[in-house]
Amino acid sequence: MLNIVLFGPPGAGKGTQSAKLIEQYGLIHLSTGDIFRANIKGGTELGTLAKQYIDNGQLVPDEVTIGMLSNEVKKNVDAKGFIFDGFPRTQAQAKALDNLLESMQTEITLMLALEVAEDELRKRLLLRGKDSGRADDQDPAVIQKRIDVYNAETMPVKDYYTTQRKYRGIDGIGEIETIFKALCEAIDGSGIGN
Ligand code: ADP
Repeated sequence: MLNIVLFGPPGAGKGTQSAKLIEQYGLIHLSTGDIFRANIKGGTELGTLAKQYIDNGQLVPDEVTIGMLSNEVKKNVDAKGFIFDGFPRTQAQAKALDNLLESMQTEITLMLALEVAEDELRKRLLLRGKDSGRADDQDPAVIQKRIDVYNAETMPVKDYYTTQRKYRGIDGIGEIETIFKALCEAIDGSGIGN
């Protein structure tokens, strides 16, 4: 299996690049943010719980997020592979993902990290907030909170994959196609999925 973690701060372009990567490599896209938003829209119990955290720019608790993600992976055991977008966001989530994939006799192939400076992120998120309808993209205080949470809780996930020699940093500023090409080169260079 080809299993990619697409990593990067809020607004780095993970959703845009995921859409292109799943088409190129025939992977299943699992975006925890998208799944939470679908649950909020559908008025599920999970959605009601997640909304309280998302609206404040906080992370949804690990046990909730890990349980949800595991269910989605188990629904797709015959997949060629996965793109994990917005997951793992904590070291506990990274460990849980390793255990889950190990139980399926597979593992993470690479973590591809989109690197974008903070001032650019703030600009992109506010711009997205104008037409995405996402409340968490419209309030500068919530945007800042998400960036702070990213730096405090999510950045350590980089070390987790660096130790496993799976981390690859990709410049996330520039043309969408140029960034996509750099991601594909990193994947093709891994020797898996060709
Ligand atoms: P972005 O990366 O632009 O902030 P996402 O759509 O990935 O947006 O996530 C939106 C929100 O959903 C996050 O701010 C967080 O509250 C919640 N969320 C998404 N993924 C996770 C996760 N892996 N763990 C905890 N909370 C998450």
